[in-house]
Amino acid sequence: MIARSGEELLEICKDNNISLSEYAIRCEVEEKGLDREEVIEKMRKNLKVMTSAANEGMEKEVYSVSGLIGGDGYRLHNYASKGKTLTGTATTMAMAMALSSSEVNASMGKIVACPTAGSCGILPAVILSTGKQLDLNEDELLKGLFAAAAVGIVIAFNATLSGAEGGCQAECGSASAMGAAAVVEMMGGTPKMSLDAGSIILQNVLGLVCDPVAGLVEIPCAKRNAQGAITALCTADMVMAGVVAKIPFDDAVSAMYKVGKSLPPSLRETALGGIAATKEGLRLKEQVFGKD
Ligand code: SF4
Repeated sequence: MIARSGEELLEICKDNNISLSEYAIRCEVEEKGLDREEVIEKMRKNLKVMTSAANEGMEKEVYSVSGLIGGDGYRLHNYASKGKTLTGTATTMAMAMALSSSEVNASMGKIVACPTAGSCGILPAVILSTGKQLDLNEDELLKGLFAAAAVGIVIAFNATLSGAEGGCQAECGSASAMGAAAVVEMMGGTPKMSLDAGSIILQNVLGLVCDPVAGLVEIPCAKRNAQGAITALCTADMVMAGVVAKIPFDDAVSAMYKVGKSLPPSLRETALGGIAATKEGLRLKEQVFGKD
């Protein structure tokens, strides 16, 4: 039943006349030997944690243990609440939620590492903001999370979700691809349309390096979560409007993996290159850890 590729995933969904979310639920039942209800209740618990992390940093200023980041989720939430934004309240709120979850993560709070802790802000932001915008109930949000999981499984099989292995394209890029695919399903799109959204995202994050300042998952990570959430929402809109991916999802995953493998170690979570190695990046490192 487990699909090893996007193509297989689409075949399974077509042959069984099921959605991506239904596929992911059935896989989990089969793999873990759990009842369907148990699987759904486990996801409901995840959604609860996600919701709490997405809200905490919007309701109050949350700062990382290092002090490098904090308060941005709160700032953006206040800004969005005034209703005078260029990109619209829903989009700005999604950014606020993504920043909030990242700040909660960096403050050692509780998050769902979905697919990783570094990219934990993207899925909650897109699922919750879409739910609010479309007035969806909790069960529909859960379906979005399961649809995201279906896509994440294929990426994990064929590439990587780790920044240390494939750069930030593999972490935030995959989270954004999962989120876009989920939103498409939540909006009534087909599995093929979801994978098209995932492909478009991956094509647009190719080469995104992993370069955390001071080796901490804070700068540029939190803002990459905000950007990943927005890209997911915009791409879902593109696909729902009828835009298709010219490059199939499997090809995009394969390209992402190859590009990740060809990144030098300095750009794969070692904090030796990219933003981490800038003058200010190094100064911030010294501020946190002192001189080498
Ligand atoms: S820059 Fe690296 S540590 Fe930060 S979110 Fe991206 S992959 Fe994770």
